[in-house]
Amino acid sequence: MTNKYYLGVDIGGTNTVYGVVNQTGEIIFQGNFNTKLYNEPIELVKDIFKSFQNFSSKNDIQIKGIGIGAPNGNFNNGCIEFAPNLFWGEMIPIADYFSNIFQLPSKLTNDANAAAIGEKTFGGAKFMNDFIVLTLGTGLGSGIYVNNQIVHGKNGFAGEYGHTKCNESSRQCTCGKIGCIETYVSARGIVQTYQEFYFANKGKMPDKEISTKQIYNLAVDGDSIAIETYSKTAHILGNSLSNLINILDPEAIFLFGGIANAHPLLIPILKESINNNVLPILKGKTKILPSQLLNKNAAVLGSAAMWF
Ligand SMILES: [Zn+2]
Repeated sequence: MTNKYYLGVDIGGTNTVYGVVNQTGEIIFQGNFNTKLYNEPIELVKDIFKSFQNFSSKNDIQIKGIGIGAPNGNFNNGCIEFAPNLFWGEMIPIADYFSNIFQLPSKLTNDANAAAIGEKTFGGAKFMNDFIVLTLGTGLGSGIYVNNQIVHGKNGFAGEYGHTKCNESSRQCTCGKIGCIETYVSARGIVQTYQEFYFANKGKMPDKEISTKQIYNLAVDGDSIAIETYSKTAHILGNSLSNLINILDPEAIFLFGGIANAHPLLIPILKESINNNVLPILKGKTKILPSQLLNKNAAVLGSAAMWF
């Protein structure tokens, strides 16, 4: 089998990571740049091109196309639109920048879709036609496959699951609305829940800032406030996912992203609250699984996988 290579690029608010990927999902070359150092996105694209050319000339490897994952990346028009963590303007034609500089075809999608495409191509969803990947990190995103196709939607913004409403409805979301599930099921949301339980139990706020990883470690060590925090988070997510399961009847829901490393704690509670809320005919049908690409460079793999 002749190897075909594609460039996968993951543009984040802090870091941009890129890599050359072959069809078996190996990243044979990888690099990164600090996104914040670039006032103009085209300068970032030029630097990625120089870095790739340097690698390509030494190794005699040619790529056939470029896949880009970015927050608010719109597959339909190739533009990053109104991304809150990037400061390059409202509409950035990033796919055109890559195509012009590399003289190769480029595709763009958002980071959660890239994770789902990566799971389908290289991870646990290889043989599934209907599944959802939840990206649990700074925010909450989702990539949705129906009938073996990723759902982009009319405007390219399908899958904004994090901004659907949950029963707990008092927190202000970064999108400007109140009560989005992301205000509970995200790094920021989990820390806030921990602080609220801490205050209710101890009558004061914690002395130091705390991360979701530290809260998870506390929960594993038996800390009741940390256990309560993850339990509440999983119950809110499970209740909400039962709506999604009733609508889409997916074969599996994969948990991906930094917070998904807490899956031993999350998954049993998720299953319980899904089964308490889903239609009886769908009870126990949807698998809840950790991503098989957890802790791999899934964003780069998924972005490149748009071509496989
Ligand atoms: Zn929101």
